Amino acid sequence: MKIDHIGIAVNSIENASKVYEAMLKKKLDHVIELPDRNLKVMMIKMGESEIELLQPIENNSKGICSFLEKKGEGLHHIAFKVNNFDETIENLKANGFRLIGEPTLGANGSRIIFLHPKSSNGTLIELCENTKEEA
Ligand code: ZN
Repeated sequence: MKIDHIGIAVNSIENASKVYEAMLKKKLDHVIELPDRNLKVMMIKMGESEIELLQPIENNSKGICSFLEKKGEGLHHIAFKVNNFDETIENLKANGFRLIGEPTLGANGSRIIFLHPKSSNGTLIELCENTKEEA
């Protein structure tokens, strides 16, 4: 497993991306919309990993909206890339980890699933399927 990306909840990708534009000295403007997850997402490449800026499309007091209401902007989740996705999920379930829902498609098109923060010391963890099967 390695860190694939770090998800950061923001009120405005347009504003938040300026911080990274200043750090990386390049223009960032590629925003992906995931309407079924009520999310606008910007993936920002930082070496081997990425920063994922997450902004709700609509205010609905669920998911990312309730996170922003309760905690404000900031670190939302850490995502690990896993090689044997289905096997990893089965192992985690067998070891008593709580998973949130069923696998869905993430911003980069690979399957993802979340581990409940109560299973992982208060940090929301996302598992992303490694579709390239590198080490
Ligand atoms: Zn993510």
